[in-house]
Amino acid sequence: DGGTEYLALDADSLVQRLGSLQDLRQRLGDPAGWQVREVGDGNLNLVFIVEGPSGAAVVKQALPYVRLVGESWPLPLTRAFFERHALQRQAARCPGRVPEIYHYDDGQALTVMEYLTPHVILRKSLAAGRVHENLAAHLAAFTAETLFRGSDLCMETRQRKADLALFADNVDLCDITESLVFTDPYYAAELNRHTTPQLDGYVAALRADQELKVQAQHLKAGFASKAQTLLHGDLHTGSIMVTDGDTRMIDPEFAVYGPMGFDIGMLLANFLMAFHAQAGHEAAPGARDPYRDWLLQVVQEVWDGFAARFRALWQSERSGILYPAALFEDQGHHMAAEKACSDYLREVWVDTVGYCGVEMHRRILGLAHIAELDDIADADRRADCERRALELGRLLVLGRHSIAGPAEIAALARRIE
Ligand code: ADP
Ligand code: MG
Ligand code: MG
Ligand code: MG
Repeated sequence: DGGTEYLALDADSLVQRLGSLQDLRQRLGDPAGWQVREVGDGNLNLVFIVEGPSGAAVVKQALPYVRLVGESWPLPLTRAFFERHALQRQAARCPGRVPEIYHYDDGQALTVMEYLTPHVILRKSLAAGRVHENLAAHLAAFTAETLFRGSDLCMETRQRKADLALFADNVDLCDITESLVFTDPYYAAELNRHTTPQLDGYVAALRADQELKVQAQHLKAGFASKAQTLLHGDLHTGSIMVTDGDTRMIDPEFAVYGPMGFDIGMLLANFLMAFHAQAGHEAAPGARDPYRDWLLQVVQEVWDGFAARFRALWQSERSGILYPAALFEDQGHHMAAEKACSDYLREVWVDTVGYCGVEMHRRILGLAHIAELDDIADADRRADCERRALELGRLLVLGRHSIAGPAEIAALARRIE
């Protein structure tokens, strides 16, 4: 019923308003038996779990403002439209890694989707020190397949331009990323916060580092103009849900065309921050060393797995605008095609390292923090963890052109005092 005026749902009105949808009645059973609870723990939207006699679903609805801040920060409802378009593309490009969509209503800014259960948010699982065997492989496949298949290495030119134009309207969410990730952490912006007074000196030095600010803006220039592919746009460990064997990506409302390294870098940064947070959570110094090793192993395996899958797709699905086989394989010039792939991947790596660094800064100095650091109750101990993560971020932003691979990042992460 896209014709009716937008109205935010609550647990009571949801049954009345969605109970008449045939596809949902079939899936969930008689609406008289639906149980609804609001579970949203995110920064922006309403999320309800609806359980019926014969099935369950999640209903996510955008609000006309930022949930974390309130009505004083308006944000367009259209983010639900972009999220659902991104979910549909991700499902086609990497089957099985996102929740299935059951129903959507762009006018009401809502999406009804698969209830992921017994999944938990990966960030919480990392805080609990749990290992997930298939996680790195799933993340590598998701990034490689969504980023390659959404790029002009794979897409036909007309479809590609139409898609770029569609997502170009996700302006306000993109603006949030541009400000919160690339600018606010590097000066005393109003919504910033950091552990004070412990970090004050370090933060002052960081903000006085002129080369760092130049490099952060170079990275922002890449984010704003290098439209390589459709990004998830918010691929942190709070946008990933896991069980022992399954991994799903949720919440792509920040989807926009940008550089591949943005998604991968944000993802790796969240494992590296979890690494530096361990000292705030372990019972005795060193107690979580095996877990530290596993977190760094995930970083290694995500990049290696991404690159391997990307190379395979370069061989088998390079049917888009760029590097046409007519110039290479068809001429017998296989080596040149491989060289081009290596060059392309090298650029993605350099971007990945840089975006990884700025993500570490903004999660400690900006508006949106992460639980594994915020939850360290002792402020001195928390500040020690945060300082190490900030310093690693700085080394990554400044050193991204000369850092050879994930093993070098792991070595830097371990070495920081
Ligand atoms: P926001 O955009 O506000 O961050 P999210 O999409 O991240 O909203 O959802 C907020 C929370 O709701 C998630 O952290 C998760 O706990 C829960 N959630 C969201 N989607 C699902 C789903 N498909 N299945 C189960 N839980 C979900
Ligand atoms: Mg979220
Ligand atoms: Mg959120
Ligand atoms: Mg979100």
